[in-house]
Amino acid sequence: EAKARGKGGVVYIEGSEREAAATQVRLREQIAQPDLSQFRIVYQPVVDLATRQVRGVEALLRWQHPELGNVPPDEFIPMAEHGGSIQRLGWWVLESVCRQVAAWSRQVPRHRLAVGVNVSIRQLDEPDFAVRVLDLIDEHGLERDQIILEITEQSLARDFENAVEVVAQLRAGGVSVAVDDYGTGYSSLQYLDRFAADVVKIDRSFVSNLVANEHTQKIVSSVLDMARALDLQSIAEGIETPEQLDVVLRLGCELGQGYLFSRPVGAEAIGELLGAGPLA
Ligand code: C2E
Ligand code: CA
Ligand code: CA
Ligand code: CA
Repeated sequence: EAKARGKGGVVYIEGSEREAAATQVRLREQIAQPDLSQFRIVYQPVVDLATRQVRGVEALLRWQHPELGNVPPDEFIPMAEHGGSIQRLGWWVLESVCRQVAAWSRQVPRHRLAVGVNVSIRQLDEPDFAVRVLDLIDEHGLERDQIILEITEQSLARDFENAVEVVAQLRAGGVSVAVDDYGTGYSSLQYLDRFAADVVKIDRSFVSNLVANEHTQKIVSSVLDMARALDLQSIAEGIETPEQLDVVLRLGCELGQGYLFSRPVGAEAIGELLGAGPLA
């Protein structure tokens, strides 16, 4: 029987609704008590669009399920948020990333890489979240601004006031913060103003429409103007084609990531990339 993806990306065995529901229940149970040996982190390069030099990476979590294979994060992260394990999983990701960045620094001493780490807004509820993040970075001997915490714009609506406070603590401590999936939520401008982030990541849905749609070009262009006015770095997400690259470059975006440059890859591959030149 072939594995397929159902509505909402749920993994199920084709033809059996009941099995699909059972699989969902099982995944929910398992993610509530995650077996961390089944998880790993892959990294996608963030490149300078003009030179294709690797300027950073984004850490992306993978769940290699022993029976179901790769379960996508869009599926299990919401489950972990609801089931209460996102905090434990989130600390494991942060700790693993810090250890990896320290290893890269030893391997390629001249390269001071910045790493984007996705955090769920639920993690920001934890007491002393900011202090613990700063301690973790220091323990691994990293510079504070080597870690960029990515928070989705959409999730901000859920608990904006607390997020503003925690982000202020993080930034006061020297950690950078990115607004992820920018353009997919509401009242984006107001958020950016009060949130005072360092980086804005322009959602893939805009990038994929750029070439065919002049309206989208205007929107992205105004987002980039605003980012410059607020002194934010901008990263275009999901660049897949040379045509998309041409447009984002013409609109003045500096940084980007996407399959055109590299898919997310293992830590060893990143180590090799750092020693080499720009991405072809
Ligand atoms: P995101 O933060 O927006 O991450 C970018 C997603 O786009 C990744 O999917 C990446 O593999 C994919 N991507 C990158 N370049 C391209 C491209 O050119 N074309 C296409 N079609 N896709 C591209 P992924 O790894 O499946 O992650 C999905 C989402 O899961 C992430 O979206 C993020 O919101 C969440 N996530 C991943 N890892 C973590 C984590 O450690 N913690 C939390 N809280 N969320 C995570
Ligand atoms: Ca992200
Ligand atoms: Ca994103
Ligand atoms: Ca996303």
